[in-house]
Amino acid sequence: MRLIFLGPPGAGKGTQAKLLTDKHGIPQLSTGDMLRAAVAAGTDVGRRAKAVMDAGQLVSDAIVNEIVSDRIDSPDCAKGFILDGYPRTVPQAEALDSILAGKGIALDAVIELKVDEEALVRRMENRVAETIAAGGSVRSDDNPEAFKRRLAEYREKTAPLSSYYALTGKLKTVDGMANVDAVTAEIDGILERA
Ligand code: AMP
Repeated sequence: MRLIFLGPPGAGKGTQAKLLTDKHGIPQLSTGDMLRAAVAAGTDVGRRAKAVMDAGQLVSDAIVNEIVSDRIDSPDCAKGFILDGYPRTVPQAEALDSILAGKGIALDAVIELKVDEEALVRRMENRVAETIAAGGSVRSDDNPEAFKRRLAEYREKTAPLSSYYALTGKLKTVDGMANVDAVTAEIDGILERA
């Protein structure tokens, strides 16, 4: 099963992708996690990405396309994968089409989580408070200024992907404002029918 999760920051893509990973034994490929790992490891990609990520802007298409293309070749992706946070621009979606075609594989579904923006800011604030309470470290882009920028980037560059994938007939829209279990149940239903 090969899936894309689409939705603004804080919509619950990561939460739902993790649940599907446990259920289906396929990995969650989060470009945000991969880039944060590169930053932490101090790689060349990490050094180039850090300032852009901290400002809430998008890393270049070329960097993420290459990361994803390489990651999909790993043996644990043979049965499928869940893309979380990629593609984020129309050129990335076009690049993904040719990456997948080159590997002879196809997407099964694109699941879009629809949420309202005010709720997203509250979710980000709750996530920060919970992380601090648990003694964890807060993401450097989880602050009001960077978060607003991430939402603006989403509206401008990622939202057009809904129409892009609607044209392929693979787009399924889910109400991301429902509670986690209800969203999971809706996604399960979609995947059974896909
Ligand atoms: P995320 O964890 O998905 O919220 O991503 C955190 C940050 O990583 C984003 O705000 C971007 O700076 C960068 N990033 C993650 N995925 C992508 C992508 N597909 N294209 C460009 N930048 C990305």
